[in-house]
Amino acid sequence: MFDKKMLDIGYSQSTIRDLYTYGLARKKVIGDDNVYDFSIGNPSIPAPSVVNETLIKLLSEEDSVKIHGYTVSPGNIDVRDSIATYLNKAYNTAVIGKYIFLTCGAAASLAIVTKALLFPNEEVIVFAPHFPEYRTYTEAVGGKLVTVNPDPDFLPDFIDLENKITNKTKIVIYDSPNNPTGAFYTEETIKKMSAILSEKEKEYGHPIYLVSDEPYRELLYGNEKYPFVTNYCRNSIVCYSFSKSLSLPGERIGYILVNPKCEDVEDVYAVICGAASMLGYICAPALFQHMVPYVLGYTSNLEEYKKNKGTLYNALKEIGYDVIYPTGAFYLFMKALEEDAEAFSEVAKKFELLLVPSDPFSYKGYIRIAYCVSYKQIVNSLPAFKKLYDYYKK
Ligand code: PLP
Repeated sequence: MFDKKMLDIGYSQSTIRDLYTYGLARKKVIGDDNVYDFSIGNPSIPAPSVVNETLIKLLSEEDSVKIHGYTVSPGNIDVRDSIATYLNKAYNTAVIGKYIFLTCGAAASLAIVTKALLFPNEEVIVFAPHFPEYRTYTEAVGGKLVTVNPDPDFLPDFIDLENKITNKTKIVIYDSPNNPTGAFYTEETIKKMSAILSEKEKEYGHPIYLVSDEPYRELLYGNEKYPFVTNYCRNSIVCYSFSKSLSLPGERIGYILVNPKCEDVEDVYAVICGAASMLGYICAPALFQHMVPYVLGYTSNLEEYKKNKGTLYNALKEIGYDVIYPTGAFYLFMKALEEDAEAFSEVAKKFELLLVPSDPFSYKGYIRIAYCVSYKQIVNSLPAFKKLYDYYKK
């Protein structure tokens, strides 16, 4: 006998990975350049040179036993302190290394935080369209995922948020800039969310944690100033990842940061350490821990994503598609040309376009285009997008 839910997750590929796998097989048949795979959020630009330089330096100059050895469970304290110092300078925060927990990217961070804070039957609120894995982490611990509708700009509908918070709400998760829409939560949005949560905390007499999932924090293409959640919301937690900003998704490095102003902060941090132990997510990859202090503040060359975004967004609008303007991340959210986004995604395959339907993001009728691909793919795919449009419109 096995747990039914776990078995289902184990057997089901995600829609995104299904498309990605299909693309790999299709490329073998018709050639790499003839398949326009926009399915997966795998960074297409190399890590900045400081990453490899630092790794080479560490490997050649440091004691090899030390560099590959276990660190303490939450990660090397010098590394955590360096992150706090960096954040305090860059975002005017007042965070401390003592409340940072290094772990395997944002995925592990979210799984740990959910396990740590949620009791069975309690609720996690997310904003549609949302990263599909929030449901996995929530349901893994017997919690219930509650989805708040977006406003016309794909930011939270605050009235719906207020209505959906109940006595059982324990966590609210947002990610900005957003996967899949590219929407950016301004300071005003964060302030408004915090004010609502603070009122509801008073009403229900317990903390409601605002969790900011931030793998795309640096992927902003204008002059946006990132509003750091700990500056606005007392009971807040950050789940950060170096996967996208440094193009290092396979290395599994990121962190959880608990706001030092959190109610019962010692206990909140301890319960996170406990959950991480229970899940086996202690002692993040050591070599990459040691790398972190040297690469804080660096990013891959984001100009390349900006160029992809500009060309693709303008071309799709020009063709006639209804596309949401993305402020950040590396996704475009586009209205499907029929109500059923899954059917639309199937039709797109006929034109060798691999587009993710919005259904797993708890939203209907759209597709996600991951534009973290080569510029050549963007340009070469445009006639296929035109043919797909004409197929529907003519
Ligand atoms: N959160 C969001 C919104 C994501 O898009 C992703 C990955 O695509 C993750 C979390 C997990 O990222 P990682 O575990 O690589 O840090």
